[in-house]
Amino acid sequence: MNVNIVKGTHDIYDDDARAFEYIEMVLKAVAEMYSFQQIRTPILEYTELFTRSVGESSDIVRKEMYTFLDKGDRSVTLRPELTAGVMRSIVTNKLYATKDLPIKSYYVGPAFRYERPQAGRYRQFNQFGIEAVGVTSPYQDLECIMLGYDALKLLGFKNINLKINSLGDQESRNKYREALKEYFSKQIDNMCADCKERFNINPLRILDCKVPADQEIAKNAPKMRDYLTPEAKKRFETITNTLEEYEIPYEIDDSLVRGLDYYSHIIFEFHYTTENGLNVGAVGAGGHYDNLLSEIGGPALSGVGLALGIERLYAVMKDDNLLKEEKLETDVYVMPIGEDSIKDAFGVAQILRANAYKVEICLENKSFKQLFKRAENINAKLAVIIGENEIKNNEVVLKDLHTQKQVTIPLKNLLGTLDMMFDDKEEEHDHCSCAEDIHHE
Ligand code: AMP
Repeated sequence: MNVNIVKGTHDIYDDDARAFEYIEMVLKAVAEMYSFQQIRTPILEYTELFTRSVGESSDIVRKEMYTFLDKGDRSVTLRPELTAGVMRSIVTNKLYATKDLPIKSYYVGPAFRYERPQAGRYRQFNQFGIEAVGVTSPYQDLECIMLGYDALKLLGFKNINLKINSLGDQESRNKYREALKEYFSKQIDNMCADCKERFNINPLRILDCKVPADQEIAKNAPKMRDYLTPEAKKRFETITNTLEEYEIPYEIDDSLVRGLDYYSHIIFEFHYTTENGLNVGAVGAGGHYDNLLSEIGGPALSGVGLALGIERLYAVMKDDNLLKEEKLETDVYVMPIGEDSIKDAFGVAQILRANAYKVEICLENKSFKQLFKRAENINAKLAVIIGENEIKNNEVVLKDLHTQKQVTIPLKNLLGTLDMMFDDKEEEHDHCSCAEDIHHE
Protein backbone atom coordinates (compact mmCIF):
# COMPACT_ATOMS: atom_id res chain seq x y z
CA MET A 1 0.00 0.00 0.00
CA ASN A 2 1.25 3.45 -0.89
CA VAL A 3 1.18 6.06 1.83
CA ASN A 4 0.73 9.46 0.21
CA ILE A 5 1.80 12.88 1.37
CA VAL A 6 -1.08 14.91 2.84
CA LYS A 7 -2.67 17.09 0.14
CA GLY A 8 -1.32 20.62 0.11
CA THR A 9 1.82 19.77 2.13
CA HIS A 10 5.30 19.38 0.70
CA ASP A 11 8.68 17.89 1.53
CA ILE A 12 11.72 20.17 1.51
CA TYR A 13 15.07 18.47 1.07
CA ASP A 14 18.69 18.80 -0.10
CA ASP A 15 19.35 22.04 -2.04
CA ASP A 16 15.84 23.26 -1.27
CA ALA A 17 16.28 22.67 2.46
CA ARG A 18 19.58 24.54 2.29
CA ALA A 19 17.83 27.37 0.47
CA PHE A 20 15.12 27.54 3.16
CA GLU A 21 17.81 27.57 5.82
CA TYR A 22 19.65 30.36 4.02
CA ILE A 23 16.47 32.45 3.71
CA GLU A 24 15.68 31.93 7.40
CA MET A 25 19.25 32.81 8.35
CA VAL A 26 19.04 36.13 6.48
CA LEU A 27 15.64 36.93 8.01
CA LYS A 28 16.84 36.15 11.54
CA ALA A 29 19.94 38.29 11.01
CA VAL A 30 17.80 41.23 9.89
CA ALA A 31 15.45 40.78 12.87
CA GLU A 32 18.45 40.80 15.20
CA MET A 33 19.81 43.90 13.44
CA TYR A 34 16.59 45.58 14.59
CA SER A 35 17.00 44.08 18.06
CA PHE A 36 14.19 41.52 17.96
CA GLN A 37 14.59 38.31 19.99
CA GLN A 38 13.43 34.87 19.03
CA ILE A 39 10.24 33.37 20.41
CA ARG A 40 9.02 29.79 19.88
CA THR A 41 5.41 29.06 20.67
CA PRO A 42 3.43 25.80 20.31
CA ILE A 43 1.96 24.77 16.98
CA LEU A 44 -1.16 23.65 18.84
CA GLU A 45 -3.35 26.22 20.61
CA TYR A 46 -6.89 26.24 21.93
CA THR A 47 -9.27 27.15 19.11
CA GLU A 48 -10.68 30.10 21.01
CA LEU A 49 -7.36 31.92 20.70
CA PHE A 50 -7.85 32.21 16.95
CA THR A 51 -11.59 32.88 16.95
CA ARG A 52 -10.95 35.79 19.33
CA SER A 53 -7.89 37.19 17.58
CA VAL A 54 -7.88 36.31 13.87
CA GLY A 55 -11.65 36.84 14.12
CA GLU A 56 -14.97 35.15 13.43
CA SER A 57 -15.44 37.06 10.17
CA SER A 58 -12.10 36.08 8.64
CA ASP A 59 -11.94 33.37 5.97
CA ILE A 60 -9.23 31.71 8.06
CA VAL A 61 -11.55 31.09 11.03
CA ARG A 62 -14.67 30.47 8.95
CA LYS A 63 -13.20 27.94 6.56
CA GLU A 64 -9.50 27.23 6.85
CA MET A 65 -8.57 26.04 10.32
CA TYR A 66 -7.34 22.57 11.18
CA THR A 67 -9.50 22.21 14.27
CA PHE A 68 -10.21 19.02 16.16
CA LEU A 69 -11.11 17.73 19.60
CA ASP A 70 -8.24 16.25 21.57
CA LYS A 71 -8.67 13.16 23.71
CA GLY A 72 -9.89 15.36 26.55
CA ASP A 73 -12.63 16.80 24.31
CA ARG A 74 -10.97 20.21 24.13
CA SER A 75 -11.11 22.02 20.82
CA VAL A 76 -7.57 22.64 19.58
CA THR A 77 -6.28 24.13 16.32
CA LEU A 78 -3.04 23.87 14.36
CA ARG A 79 -2.01 27.52 14.26
CA PRO A 80 -3.08 29.25 11.01
CA GLU A 81 -0.65 32.12 11.75
CA LEU A 82 1.84 32.85 14.51
CA THR A 83 0.89 36.30 15.82
CA ALA A 84 -1.96 35.01 18.01
CA GLY A 85 0.37 32.52 19.72
CA VAL A 86 2.93 35.25 20.42
CA MET A 87 0.20 37.40 22.01
CA ARG A 88 -1.02 34.44 24.06
CA SER A 89 2.53 33.85 25.23
CA ILE A 90 2.85 37.49 26.28
CA VAL A 91 -0.32 37.07 28.38
CA THR A 92 0.47 33.57 29.72
CA ASN A 93 3.98 34.54 30.78
CA LYS A 94 2.99 38.08 31.82
CA LEU A 95 5.81 39.35 29.64
CA TYR A 96 4.15 42.78 29.58
CA ALA A 97 4.88 43.05 33.34
CA THR A 98 8.19 41.24 33.64
CA LYS A 99 9.94 42.62 30.58
CA ASP A 100 10.74 46.14 29.53
CA LEU A 101 8.44 47.46 26.86
CA PRO A 102 8.42 47.19 23.94
CA ILE A 103 8.45 43.43 23.66
CA LYS A 104 10.14 42.73 20.34
CA SER A 105 9.90 39.13 19.17
CA TYR A 106 10.60 37.28 15.96
CA TYR A 107 9.53 33.79 14.99
CA VAL A 108 9.98 31.19 12.26
CA GLY A 109 7.84 28.10 11.91
CA PRO A 110 5.03 26.24 10.21
CA ALA A 111 1.43 27.43 9.91
CA PHE A 112 -1.58 25.44 8.70
CA ARG A 113 -4.55 26.53 6.62
CA TYR A 114 -7.07 24.32 4.87
CA GLU A 115 -6.93 26.27 1.62
CA ARG A 116 -7.43 25.04 -1.93
CA PRO A 117 -3.90 23.94 -2.85
CA GLN A 118 -2.46 25.85 -5.82
CA ALA A 119 0.81 27.46 -6.81
CA GLY A 120 2.19 29.34 -3.79
CA ARG A 121 -0.66 28.20 -1.56
CA TYR A 122 -0.01 25.28 0.75
CA ARG A 123 -1.89 23.72 3.64
CA GLN A 124 1.32 23.62 5.67
CA PHE A 125 3.70 26.48 4.99
CA ASN A 126 6.38 28.38 6.88
CA GLN A 127 6.29 31.91 8.12
CA PHE A 128 8.90 34.24 9.49
CA GLY A 129 7.54 37.19 11.39
CA ILE A 130 8.07 39.89 13.95
CA GLU A 131 5.88 41.52 16.58
CA ALA A 132 6.65 44.73 18.47
CA VAL A 133 4.26 45.24 21.38
CA GLY A 134 3.97 48.18 23.74
CA VAL A 135 4.82 51.23 21.62
CA THR A 136 2.18 53.43 20.06
CA SER A 137 4.49 55.56 17.90
CA PRO A 138 3.86 55.33 14.13
CA TYR A 139 7.64 55.00 13.84
CA GLN A 140 7.30 51.52 15.32
CA ASP A 141 5.01 50.69 12.39
CA LEU A 142 7.60 52.19 10.07
CA GLU A 143 10.39 50.17 11.63
CA CYS A 144 8.41 47.04 10.97
CA ILE A 145 7.78 47.91 7.31
CA MET A 146 11.42 48.89 6.85
CA LEU A 147 12.63 45.65 8.42
CA GLY A 148 10.54 43.75 5.86
CA TYR A 149 11.84 45.92 3.06
CA ASP A 150 15.47 45.47 4.19
CA ALA A 151 15.01 41.71 4.44
CA LEU A 152 13.64 41.47 0.90
CA LYS A 153 16.48 43.66 -0.41
CA LEU A 154 19.07 41.51 1.35
CA LEU A 155 17.59 38.41 -0.24
CA GLY A 156 18.12 40.09 -3.61
CA PHE A 157 14.57 41.28 -4.40
CA LYS A 158 14.50 44.25 -6.73
CA ASN A 159 11.09 45.64 -7.65
CA ILE A 160 9.26 45.34 -4.36
CA ASN A 161 5.65 46.43 -4.63
CA LEU A 162 4.61 47.72 -1.21
CA LYS A 163 0.85 48.24 -0.91
CA ILE A 164 -0.47 50.11 2.10
CA ASN A 165 -3.79 51.27 3.47
CA SER A 166 -5.10 52.60 6.77
CA LEU A 167 -7.97 51.01 8.65
CA GLY A 168 -7.95 53.98 11.02
CA ASP A 169 -8.98 53.83 14.65
CA GLN A 170 -12.20 52.37 16.05
CA GLU A 171 -14.12 55.59 15.43
CA SER A 172 -12.96 55.77 11.79
CA ARG A 173 -13.90 52.14 11.24
CA ASN A 174 -17.34 52.48 12.83
CA LYS A 175 -18.17 55.36 10.51
CA TYR A 176 -16.76 53.53 7.53
CA ARG A 177 -18.63 50.34 8.34
CA GLU A 178 -21.90 52.28 8.37
CA ALA A 179 -21.06 53.82 4.98
CA LEU A 180 -20.21 50.40 3.55
CA LYS A 181 -23.41 48.88 4.92
CA GLU A 182 -25.43 51.59 3.31
CA TYR A 183 -23.61 51.17 -0.03
CA PHE A 184 -23.79 47.37 -0.14
CA SER A 185 -27.36 47.12 1.23
CA LYS A 186 -28.66 47.95 -2.26
CA GLN A 187 -26.55 45.29 -3.98
CA ILE A 188 -26.08 42.54 -1.45
CA ASP A 189 -28.87 40.35 -2.87
CA ASN A 190 -26.84 39.97 -6.08
CA MET A 191 -23.59 39.13 -4.30
CA CYS A 192 -22.05 35.77 -3.32
CA ALA A 193 -23.12 33.81 -0.23
CA ASP A 194 -19.84 34.68 1.52
CA CYS A 195 -20.43 38.39 0.99
CA LYS A 196 -23.95 38.08 2.39
CA GLU A 197 -22.44 36.61 5.54
CA ARG A 198 -19.66 39.24 5.56
CA PHE A 199 -22.28 41.97 5.22
CA ASN A 200 -23.70 40.97 8.60
CA ILE A 201 -20.50 40.17 10.50
CA ASN A 202 -18.00 42.64 9.04
CA PRO A 203 -18.77 44.51 5.78
CA LEU A 204 -15.10 45.52 5.42
CA ARG A 205 -14.41 41.91 4.51
CA ILE A 206 -16.52 42.31 1.34
CA LEU A 207 -13.70 44.42 -0.11
CA ASP A 208 -11.51 41.32 0.07
CA CYS A 209 -13.91 39.15 -2.00
CA LYS A 210 -12.24 37.39 -4.94
CA VAL A 211 -15.46 36.88 -7.00
CA PRO A 212 -15.05 39.14 -10.08
CA ALA A 213 -18.71 40.31 -10.15
CA ASP A 214 -18.49 41.26 -6.46
CA GLN A 215 -15.17 43.02 -7.03
CA GLU A 216 -16.87 45.06 -9.74
CA ILE A 217 -19.53 46.17 -7.25
CA ALA A 218 -16.92 46.82 -4.54
CA LYS A 219 -14.91 49.04 -6.90
CA ASN A 220 -17.27 51.98 -6.38
CA ALA A 221 -17.68 51.46 -2.63
CA PRO A 222 -16.78 54.36 -0.29
CA LYS A 223 -13.05 54.59 0.51
CA MET A 224 -11.66 54.14 4.02
CA ARG A 225 -9.37 57.13 3.64
CA ASP A 226 -12.43 59.43 3.41
CA TYR A 227 -13.57 58.25 6.84
CA LEU A 228 -10.35 58.57 8.84
CA THR A 229 -10.52 60.76 11.93
CA PRO A 230 -8.03 63.66 11.86
CA GLU A 231 -5.72 61.76 14.26
CA ALA A 232 -5.84 58.59 12.18
CA LYS A 233 -5.20 60.63 9.04
CA LYS A 234 -2.20 62.32 10.64
CA ARG A 235 -0.78 58.99 11.72
CA PHE A 236 -1.13 57.60 8.21
CA GLU A 237 0.54 60.70 6.76
CA THR A 238 3.51 60.34 9.10
CA ILE A 239 4.00 56.90 7.62
CA THR A 240 3.60 57.88 3.97
CA ASN A 241 5.83 60.95 4.40
CA THR A 242 8.57 58.92 6.06
CA LEU A 243 8.43 56.21 3.40
CA GLU A 244 8.94 58.94 0.81
CA GLU A 245 11.77 60.47 2.80
CA TYR A 246 13.52 57.08 2.84
CA GLU A 247 12.71 56.52 -0.84
CA ILE A 248 10.70 53.39 -0.21
CA PRO A 249 8.18 53.21 -3.06
CA TYR A 250 4.59 52.39 -2.03
CA GLU A 251 1.12 52.37 -3.43
CA ILE A 252 -2.03 53.19 -1.48
CA ASP A 253 -4.51 50.39 -2.17
CA ASP A 254 -8.02 51.33 -1.03
CA SER A 255 -9.23 47.74 -1.34
CA LEU A 256 -6.54 46.39 0.99
CA VAL A 257 -8.22 45.16 4.20
CA ARG A 258 -6.12 42.04 5.04
CA GLY A 259 -7.61 38.68 5.88
CA LEU A 260 -7.38 38.96 9.67
CA ASP A 261 -9.68 40.94 11.91
CA TYR A 262 -7.27 42.38 14.45
CA TYR A 263 -5.76 45.27 12.53
CA SER A 264 -6.21 49.02 12.91
CA HIS A 265 -4.34 51.97 11.34
CA ILE A 266 -1.59 50.93 8.92
CA ILE A 267 -1.85 47.62 7.06
CA PHE A 268 0.57 46.62 4.34
CA GLU A 269 1.53 43.87 1.91
CA PHE A 270 4.70 43.27 -0.07
CA HIS A 271 3.78 41.97 -3.54
CA TYR A 272 6.23 40.59 -6.04
CA THR A 273 6.55 39.67 -9.68
CA THR A 274 9.83 38.06 -10.69
CA GLU A 275 11.95 39.30 -13.58
CA ASN A 276 10.64 36.30 -15.55
CA GLY A 277 7.10 37.53 -14.95
CA LEU A 278 6.05 35.05 -12.25
CA ASN A 279 3.52 36.82 -10.04
CA VAL A 280 3.65 35.25 -6.56
CA GLY A 281 1.17 37.68 -5.02
CA ALA A 282 1.98 38.75 -1.48
CA VAL A 283 5.32 37.52 -0.15
CA GLY A 284 4.63 39.18 3.17
CA ALA A 285 2.17 41.32 5.01
CA GLY A 286 1.36 42.90 8.31
CA GLY A 287 -0.10 45.79 10.17
CA HIS A 288 -0.77 47.65 13.39
CA TYR A 289 -3.13 46.33 16.07
CA ASP A 290 -4.65 48.06 19.10
CA ASN A 291 -6.99 45.53 20.70
CA LEU A 292 -5.37 42.19 19.98
CA LEU A 293 -3.72 41.72 23.36
CA SER A 294 -6.71 42.95 25.39
CA GLU A 295 -9.03 40.75 23.31
CA ILE A 296 -7.28 37.64 24.68
CA GLY A 297 -7.06 38.82 28.28
CA GLY A 298 -3.93 40.98 28.29
CA PRO A 299 -3.50 44.69 28.93
CA ALA A 300 -4.45 47.29 26.33
CA LEU A 301 -1.09 47.51 24.59
CA SER A 302 -0.88 48.17 20.90
CA GLY A 303 1.59 46.57 18.57
CA VAL A 304 2.64 45.96 15.01
CA GLY A 305 3.63 42.83 13.16
CA LEU A 306 4.84 41.48 9.87
CA ALA A 307 4.85 37.95 8.44
CA LEU A 308 6.74 36.73 5.38
CA GLY A 309 5.94 33.41 3.70
CA ILE A 310 9.14 31.40 3.25
CA GLU A 311 7.71 29.27 0.40
CA ARG A 312 6.87 32.39 -1.59
CA LEU A 313 10.27 33.98 -0.92
CA TYR A 314 11.82 30.74 -2.11
CA ALA A 315 9.65 30.69 -5.26
CA VAL A 316 10.85 34.20 -6.15
CA MET A 317 14.48 33.39 -5.45
CA LYS A 318 14.37 30.21 -7.49
CA ASP A 319 12.73 31.94 -10.44
CA ASP A 320 15.12 34.90 -10.34
CA ASN A 321 18.19 32.69 -9.84
CA LEU A 322 19.07 34.21 -6.49
CA LEU A 323 19.94 30.85 -4.90
CA LYS A 324 22.91 29.80 -7.01
CA GLU A 325 25.39 29.40 -4.20
CA GLU A 326 23.13 27.23 -2.07
CA LYS A 327 24.81 23.95 -3.03
CA LEU A 328 26.01 21.22 -0.73
CA GLU A 329 29.72 21.66 -0.06
CA THR A 330 31.88 18.81 1.16
CA ASP A 331 35.50 19.40 2.11
CA VAL A 332 36.71 15.84 1.90
CA TYR A 333 35.35 12.61 0.48
CA VAL A 334 37.09 9.63 2.07
CA MET A 335 37.32 6.71 -0.35
CA PRO A 336 38.29 3.29 1.03
CA ILE A 337 39.51 0.98 -1.70
CA GLY A 338 38.35 -2.52 -0.90
CA GLU A 339 36.24 -3.87 1.94
CA ASP A 340 39.27 -4.23 4.25
CA SER A 341 40.12 -0.52 4.12
CA ILE A 342 36.76 0.67 5.44
CA LYS A 343 37.72 0.37 9.12
CA ASP A 344 40.84 2.55 8.76
CA ALA A 345 39.10 5.01 6.43
CA PHE A 346 36.29 5.32 8.98
CA GLY A 347 38.86 6.31 11.62
CA VAL A 348 40.36 8.95 9.31
CA ALA A 349 36.92 10.43 8.57
CA GLN A 350 36.14 10.70 12.28
CA ILE A 351 39.44 12.52 12.96
CA LEU A 352 38.77 15.01 10.16
CA ARG A 353 35.22 15.63 11.43
CA ALA A 354 36.55 16.16 14.94
CA ASN A 355 38.70 18.90 13.39
CA ALA A 356 35.67 20.61 11.84
CA TYR A 357 35.99 19.38 8.25
CA LYS A 358 32.84 18.49 6.34
CA VAL A 359 33.47 14.87 5.52
CA GLU A 360 31.61 12.15 3.67
CA ILE A 361 32.90 8.59 3.55
CA CYS A 362 31.97 5.67 1.35
CA LEU A 363 31.13 2.71 3.60
CA GLU A 364 30.85 0.11 0.89
CA ASN A 365 33.16 -1.47 -1.62
CA LYS A 366 32.63 0.72 -4.71
CA SER A 367 34.40 1.09 -8.05
CA PHE A 368 36.52 4.20 -8.73
CA LYS A 369 33.91 5.30 -11.25
CA GLN A 370 31.16 5.14 -8.64
CA LEU A 371 33.33 6.86 -6.04
CA PHE A 372 34.19 9.81 -8.27
CA LYS A 373 30.58 10.17 -9.41
CA ARG A 374 29.53 10.45 -5.78
CA ALA A 375 32.35 12.93 -5.06
CA GLU A 376 31.01 15.10 -7.87
CA ASN A 377 27.43 14.84 -6.62
CA ILE A 378 28.35 15.96 -3.12
CA ASN A 379 30.57 18.75 -4.45
CA ALA A 380 33.67 17.44 -2.67
CA LYS A 381 36.82 19.54 -2.90
CA LEU A 382 39.30 16.81 -2.02
CA ALA A 383 39.39 13.05 -1.95
CA VAL A 384 41.36 11.06 0.58
CA ILE A 385 41.97 7.63 -0.93
CA ILE A 386 42.90 4.77 1.38
CA GLY A 387 43.72 1.33 0.02
CA GLU A 388 45.61 -1.71 1.21
CA ASN A 389 49.03 -0.25 0.26
CA GLU A 390 48.38 3.06 1.96
CA ILE A 391 47.35 1.30 5.17
CA LYS A 392 50.49 -0.82 5.07
CA ASN A 393 52.71 2.25 4.61
CA ASN A 394 50.74 4.56 6.94
CA GLU A 395 49.97 6.87 4.05
CA VAL A 396 46.98 8.34 2.26
CA VAL A 397 46.47 9.61 -1.28
CA LEU A 398 45.19 13.17 -1.36
CA LYS A 399 43.52 14.22 -4.60
CA ASP A 400 42.42 17.73 -5.53
CA LEU A 401 39.13 17.09 -7.30
CA HIS A 402 39.26 20.47 -9.00
CA THR A 403 42.70 20.12 -10.64
CA GLN A 404 42.76 16.30 -10.57
CA LYS A 405 46.34 16.42 -9.16
CA GLN A 406 47.18 13.92 -6.45
CA VAL A 407 49.96 13.23 -3.96
CA THR A 408 50.73 10.51 -1.48
CA ILE A 409 51.49 11.79 2.00
CA PRO A 410 52.12 10.22 5.41
CA LEU A 411 48.87 9.79 7.32
CA LYS A 412 50.28 11.78 10.25
CA ASN A 413 50.68 14.81 7.95
CA LEU A 414 47.11 14.71 6.61
CA LEU A 415 45.52 17.07 9.12
CA GLY A 416 48.37 19.59 8.95
CA THR A 417 48.27 19.53 5.15
CA LEU A 418 44.51 20.06 5.07
CA ASP A 419 44.74 22.88 7.61
CA MET A 420 47.36 24.60 5.48
CA MET A 421 45.42 24.11 2.25
CA PHE A 422 42.11 25.35 3.64
CA ASP A 423 43.83 28.32 5.30
CA ASP A 424 45.42 29.24 1.97
CA LYS A 425 42.10 28.88 0.23
CA GLU A 426 40.38 31.20 2.66
CA GLU A 427 43.10 33.78 2.24
CA GLU A 428 43.33 33.65 -1.51
CA HIS A 429 39.62 33.16 -2.28
CA ASP A 430 40.47 31.42 -5.51
CA HIS A 431 40.76 27.91 -6.83
CA CYS A 432 44.40 27.23 -6.01
CA SER A 433 45.87 23.90 -6.93
CA CYS A 434 45.92 22.15 -3.59
CA ALA A 435 48.08 19.25 -4.73
CA GLU A 436 50.66 21.67 -6.06
CA ASP A 437 50.77 23.37 -2.66
CA ILE A 438 51.68 20.05 -1.12
CA HIS A 439 54.54 19.59 -3.61
CA HIS A 440 55.91 23.01 -2.72
CA GLU A 441 55.96 22.11 0.94
P1 AMP B 1 -1.22 36.43 5.80
O1 AMP B 1 -1.12 36.62 7.24
O2 AMP B 1 -2.36 35.56 5.36
O3 AMP B 1 -1.17 37.69 4.99
O4 AMP B 1 0.10 35.63 5.40
C1 AMP B 1 1.36 36.23 5.43
C2 AMP B 1 2.23 35.61 4.37
O5 AMP B 1 2.28 34.19 4.54
C3 AMP B 1 1.67 35.78 2.96
O6 AMP B 1 2.09 37.00 2.42
C4 AMP B 1 2.27 34.62 2.23
O7 AMP B 1 3.59 34.90 1.82
C5 AMP B 1 2.32 33.54 3.28
N1 AMP B 1 1.17 32.63 3.16
C6 AMP B 1 -0.09 32.80 3.62
N2 AMP B 1 -0.86 31.75 3.33
C7 AMP B 1 -0.08 30.88 2.67
C8 AMP B 1 -0.28 29.57 2.10
N3 AMP B 1 -1.46 28.94 2.18
N4 AMP B 1 0.76 28.97 1.48
C9 AMP B 1 1.97 29.59 1.41
N5 AMP B 1 2.22 30.80 1.94
C10 AMP B 1 1.22 31.43 2.55
